[in-house]
Amino acid sequence: MDQIECVVIGAGVVGLAIARALAMRGREVIVLEAAEAIGVGTSSRNSEVIHAGLYYPRGSLKATLCVHGREMLYEYCASRGVPHQRCGKLLVATARNQVPQLESILARGKENGVLDLMRISGAEAQALEPALECYEAVFSPQTGIVDSHQLMLALQGDAERDGAICAFHSPVEAIEATNGRFTIQVGGTSPTTLSASCVINSAGLHANALAKRIRGLDRRHVPPLYLARGNYFSISGRAPFSRLIYPMPNEAGLGVHLTIDLGGQARFGPDVEWVDTINYDVDPRRAESFYAAIRAYWPALPDDALQPAYAGIRPKLSGPGEPAADFVIQGPAAHGVRGLVNLFGIESPGLTASLAIAQRVCELAGRA
Ligand SMILES: Cc1cc2nc3c(=O)[nH]c(=O)nc-3n(C[C@H](O)[C@H](O)[C@H](O)COP(=O)(O)OP(=O)(O)OC[C@H]3O[C@@H](n4cnc5c(N)ncnc54)[C@H](O)[C@@H]3O)c2cc1C
Repeated sequence: MDQIECVVIGAGVVGLAIARALAMRGREVIVLEAAEAIGVGTSSRNSEVIHAGLYYPRGSLKATLCVHGREMLYEYCASRGVPHQRCGKLLVATARNQVPQLESILARGKENGVLDLMRISGAEAQALEPALECYEAVFSPQTGIVDSHQLMLALQGDAERDGAICAFHSPVEAIEATNGRFTIQVGGTSPTTLSASCVINSAGLHANALAKRIRGLDRRHVPPLYLARGNYFSISGRAPFSRLIYPMPNEAGLGVHLTIDLGGQARFGPDVEWVDTINYDVDPRRAESFYAAIRAYWPALPDDALQPAYAGIRPKLSGPGEPAADFVIQGPAAHGVRGLVNLFGIESPGLTASLAIAQRVCELAGRA
C-alpha cells in the first residue's frame, strides 16, 4: 500500500488552495480528484465575484474568512498574474421600503471591517451607472471579479512546484481511520489503496456523503446537506454597466445580480431553486422571473434578450426557510479523529475566502 502524508480530496478552488498551503509548509500532498480535471464542480459554476464581506453575521467564519481571504486573494492574483479587476459594486434599494434592509447590510459590513462602504442617493448611483434605476445604494469599492479558472491553474502550479501531486479520475470511495492513520480506497480507472496520516475532505457537494463513508468518524458530526441550484442567464454583447449591480438579498441567496466577466460580458443570476439531485441544465422558462427581477434596477433590459447560460449548485447546510448556516470546518478538536479535517457547506463566499480557508485548514491539520 502506498504511503503519503496528506491527502486532499477534491481539486476545486478550495482543495487546490489547501494543497498549495500544505505543500508550501513542506508537507507531502496528493490531491485526489474524481473528475478528469481541476475545477469542474462548483468552482467553475459561480459568479466569479470577489466579495467584500457585507452580508455575513459578525464573527462568523463566512465574515472573517471572506474579509481576510479577499485581501489575500487580491494580493495573490496581483503577484501571480491572475486576471482580476477591483471594479466595485452597487448594492441597490429599488424602492423606499428596501432602505431599512440596505441600512442593516451597511451596518453589518462595517461591523465586519468593511470600512469604505459609501451610502449614496439614487441620483448619485445613476451618475455612476446611467442605465441604473434605484432609490438609494451602497457603493462597495472592494468588490471585484476574478478569472476563477486561471486562479485554480495558478494554485495547482504552486502546489505542484512545491511537490504536490494531482491525481485525476481518482474518486475516493471509502476511508477507514484507525490509530492516527487513514486507509483510503480510491476507485476509478486505476483503483488503489493509500495510507495517510492527514486527510482533508474538500469534496464540495459530495463532502457530506463522503464523510459518512469514513469509518471511525461519528456520523453525528456530519450535518445534513441541502442543494440550492442557481441559474444564470446572459445577454449578447456588452452590458451598459461597468460595476456589478446587486439587489437586496433574499433568505437563500444574494438576489439576481448583474455581474460582468473580465471580457465585459454580462450575466445575471443566480436565482434559488431547491433541488434533490445534481443537474446543471438551465430551464429557459425561468427567464420569465429574471426579466422582472432585473428590470427592477435596469428597466431598459430589452425583451427576449436573456439566453440560458449555466447553473451552479450551492452546498447548503440550511434548508428552505431556515436562517443561513455558516461554513463548517471541522478539525480533530470538533470530531475527535486525529489528522482529519472536513469542510461542509462551502458555498458563497468560498471562492473569495479560499486562501484564508486554506490557512485555517493548515492550522487544524497540524502535524500528525
Ligand atoms: C451559484 C453559485 C454562485 C457563487 N458565486 C460565488 C461568488 O461570486 N464568489 C464567491 O466567493 N463564491 C461564490 N460561490 C461559492 C464558490 O463557488 C464555492 O464556495 C467554491 O467554488 C467551492 O469550492 P470547493 O473546492 O469547495 O468545491 P468544488 O469546486 O465543488 O470542488 C469539489 C471537488 O471535489 C471533487 N470530488 C467530490 N467527491 C469526490 C470524491 N469522492 N473523490 C475525489 N474527488 C471528489 C469534485 O469532483 C470537485 O472537483 C458561488 C457558488 C454557487 C453555487
